[in-house]
Amino acid sequence: MLKALLFFLVTIGAIVAAVSFNKGHQQKQFIALFEPVPDSTKSKERKMEDKIIRTEEEWKKILTPEQYRVLREKGTERAYTGEYWNHFEEGVYKCAGCGAELFSSDTKFDSHCGWPSYFTPLAGDRVVFKEDRSYGMIRTEVLCAKCGGHLGHVFDDGPEPTGLRYCINSVSLIFEKRPKK
Ligand code: FE
Repeated sequence: MLKALLFFLVTIGAIVAAVSFNKGHQQKQFIALFEPVPDSTKSKERKMEDKIIRTEEEWKKILTPEQYRVLREKGTERAYTGEYWNHFEEGVYKCAGCGAELFSSDTKFDSHCGWPSYFTPLAGDRVVFKEDRSYGMIRTEVLCAKCGGHLGHVFDDGPEPTGLRYCINSVSLIFEKRPKK
């Protein structure tokens, strides 16, 4: 009887420990994303020669009016209207402003939100983050590290392995088909 009771207590203890560990882990991820985001757009790690700097007049000549509105004026395309929200070919999604390779089709997932969604960029240094307090919300803006173009926002409701959803405007991207060898 005593043995059975001891076994019961140990089992309950193990379950409580597992649940609280998992909770702590989730909490940590949440805080990491929603603590005031350090402005990484001014990171000194990236050399100046790697960056593309153009005047607004130059951008207006290069981009279409819709690309300019989203990339340079932080606009948002209407949900379910962009070219890539329902696009699942194999390849690479490049910045429409500067051609930097930003996202891979390998990390794209169907988020049903109306915009192309990825759980990670191609590499950590391809994008930078900035706190966005517009429209009464606190969001994390995602920008192209090379040209500073506005891409979209990142949220913490994505799938494994990162738990993140990079919600990106199609108009900020240009897809290049690149079948796997
Ligand atoms: Fe860019």
